[in-house]
Amino acid sequence: MKKIAILGSTGSIGQNTLEVVRRFPDKLKVEVLVAGCNLNLLRQQIEEFHPRAVAVRAEEDARQLRQEVKKTSLKVYAGEKGLEEVVCFPEIDLVVSAITGVAGLKPTLKALELGVDVALANKESMVVAGPFIKKIAARTHAKIIPIDSEHSGIFQCLDGRPLKSVRKVYLTASGGPFLRVPLEDLANKSQSEALAHPRWKMGKKVSIDSATLMNKGLELIEARFLFDLRPEQLDVLIHPQSIVHALVEFRDGSCLAQLSQTDMKIPIQYALSYPERWETTGNSLDLSEVKNLEFLKVEESRFPLLALARRALEVGGSLPVVLNAANEVAVEAFLEDNINFRQIYEVVEYCLMQHSPRDINSLDEVLDIDQETRKLAREFLKGKVKSK
Ligand code: MG
Repeated sequence: MKKIAILGSTGSIGQNTLEVVRRFPDKLKVEVLVAGCNLNLLRQQIEEFHPRAVAVRAEEDARQLRQEVKKTSLKVYAGEKGLEEVVCFPEIDLVVSAITGVAGLKPTLKALELGVDVALANKESMVVAGPFIKKIAARTHAKIIPIDSEHSGIFQCLDGRPLKSVRKVYLTASGGPFLRVPLEDLANKSQSEALAHPRWKMGKKVSIDSATLMNKGLELIEARFLFDLRPEQLDVLIHPQSIVHALVEFRDGSCLAQLSQTDMKIPIQYALSYPERWETTGNSLDLSEVKNLEFLKVEESRFPLLALARRALEVGGSLPVVLNAANEVAVEAFLEDNINFRQIYEVVEYCLMQHSPRDINSLDEVLDIDQETRKLAREFLKGKVKSK
């Protein structure tokens, strides 16, 4: 029985993870659930999965929950500190790190420091602190198993093969909802249009990032650190069908690709079962049904944020931290309807221009640059009014 902690249990990845747990009650046991502020869903999850501990964002919510469960042995924690405490809960075999944004960094590091394996869905932590995360995991021998579908694909294609045999790695992108929209219409695309991803059902932040293709930019950086690849080995292909998730080209010209239905439960289950594969039904891939698999180059004028991400990938050091923080603030502003779609790019570009890239030597430095950039982005936004 694998004992798991799910950080971000009420989000899209968290809910899909619990779907997988439902399929394998004799193989997986939920010990810890961490949620933000969706108490109603957390209550249902507690009732169904009987964790030993939960954590929520606000102390007030924790107080209320404690009151409700006082006749049980369930422990309830709150805030950032509570989150660290539940990650340290004894006898956890695997932490599913699925809190969106840089907020997922500290608990991910904590788990790895304790030598606990991490199934990683939180790409932002790898983007801002990849080298630190890898160093800690190497020291404690904790495994990092990617959940992100593209990285799960690369992980499965590499399957322990020597890095020197790899020539190139391609991540695929569906292209999001705006792949074929006329360029001049892009700036004023609404929130609901940006959220309507044609292939994947995901959380809001990652859906917007998929519409701008920043998601793929962050994934390139994630892949660089996760698999120790050089920036020039990494590339993106637009693949509207989202059947091939990643493709690895080896030095002899041979390629391996990972294919599956567009269903996050597949990479999640692999991360939970790794290195085993567990039997499931109803998710066979019928290529004769799919018929066409298209691959296109990325049109840079359509997705200018990807070019910014590529620069951060190549320069490295502090630049990915700035890229990520600026993007988080910009996407938040877009979701709050304070800026238009095109202005997401303007915020990120401004923050990158204002920053002189440097090497990073500590995690505190990562968090400082993250905070500085958020401040800068917010100041820039103050001077902006949503242009129609
Ligand atoms: Mg992905």
